[in-house]
Amino acid sequence: MKTVKDNIYLIIAGVFAFITINTALFYAYPGKFTAIAYVTILIIPLFVALVLVFTRFSFLFTSRISEQEDEKKLLRERQKEIVENMVEGLVVHNKSGKILSVNSIAEKFLGIPASEILYKTNLELSKKSLLLDALFKKFESGSEKEYSYKDKYGRDYVFKIISVELSKKRGEILKIIRDISREKHLNKMKSEYLTVMSHKFLTPLNGIKWTAPSILDKDVDSADKERFVKNIIESTDELIELTSLLLRVTEMEEGNFGYKLGPVDIRVIIENSIKDRKEDIDERKILMVFNKSDIPIPSVTADKDRVKVVVDNFIDNAIKYSSEEGGVEISLEDDGKNIRFSIKDDGIGISKKAQPDIFSKFIRDDRAIAMHTEGSGLGLFIAKNIIEELGGKIGFVSTEGEGSTFFFTLPKENKKHNIK
Ligand code: ADP
Repeated sequence: MKTVKDNIYLIIAGVFAFITINTALFYAYPGKFTAIAYVTILIIPLFVALVLVFTRFSFLFTSRISEQEDEKKLLRERQKEIVENMVEGLVVHNKSGKILSVNSIAEKFLGIPASEILYKTNLELSKKSLLLDALFKKFESGSEKEYSYKDKYGRDYVFKIISVELSKKRGEILKIIRDISREKHLNKMKSEYLTVMSHKFLTPLNGIKWTAPSILDKDVDSADKERFVKNIIESTDELIELTSLLLRVTEMEEGNFGYKLGPVDIRVIIENSIKDRKEDIDERKILMVFNKSDIPIPSVTADKDRVKVVVDNFIDNAIKYSSEEGGVEISLEDDGKNIRFSIKDDGIGISKKAQPDIFSKFIRDDRAIAMHTEGSGLGLFIAKNIIEELGGKIGFVSTEGEGSTFFFTLPKENKKHNIK
């Protein structure tokens, strides 16, 4: 880039040339100097002025060009960064199937480093992958196809490949690869869940429908009538519980799940929850232990009813999914800033496949479904929402067939006063 310094040198050079020429003319033509001097006085400054004007403009011109070049370079770098950071895989190949460009997410999806596939055709590749093969199947420009396969751990993957003609002249085609595995999985879960939910509603409704007329039957004795009424009450309770669960999820998703903050003694919530479930605990012969810390656990600022929902869900799950005569251990600790609740069971555990999505709506592990056909798959979703809304953390560790430990933390001082 030209600098102002370069122009100053030119000015000095011009002035120096002017003085030199005039001095030379003075000695060469002593008599005629005046006439020639006039000419040189007019011509040379004109020449210098022209040089200056030219260099000045060229300075602006060259600086503008280099600015444009810098901008172009920046734009190219930015475009490269966008391509590299996209959540979609991008692969460019030509008509003969030679791979010309691969971004890092495409490398990840294909499971092959770019260096091994760049500038090679599909036929020349030593490593093969189902997805790579799928890239070279016949595609109409602008069309899309879905490919699904299982990896070596049995996990299902679904990819959508979209084909776009990048350049007709160069015969280059762009393949956009989108991982839609999670979307597909959740959709499948949702439709399965709707089927399960419909059955859940139908069972108590059918119970009520068939039991109610018997109450009106004159031949039925009063002891049976009392039993029928009890059945109807149980069925309606089940329906109310289900409906309120669904309502809770809807309220959460719409952001209308109200919270009332106040001091909450988690220890009392745990003790009451265990007391309420005594029948189930005894029925499954579970040894339930609550390790209370020696130091008194302070209250947290939270919503008592919402924290109870989470504690109840964790305890219910530990009872449901632990082994018969198994052990469940609850701990409550104070780590300074937070109160940490954890519950450990030695039950069925959670498979590796189900673990990443276990806090999502409607997700239930296959073994849990086999053990308890009923179950909403909503409890953990609701629990996560509540704990995070109250400024805490929720999580678990689990080994299939060995058991699980679920935990949550809540800050002693809740700074999220703005929660609704
Ligand atoms: P539900 O228990 O009604 O199915 P949740 O949302 O409470 O719904 O739990 C979702 C899934 O998480 C369960 O179906 C089960 O697969 C798994 N799960 C939760 N807690 C446990 C546990 N303690 N042991 C094993 N699996 C569990």
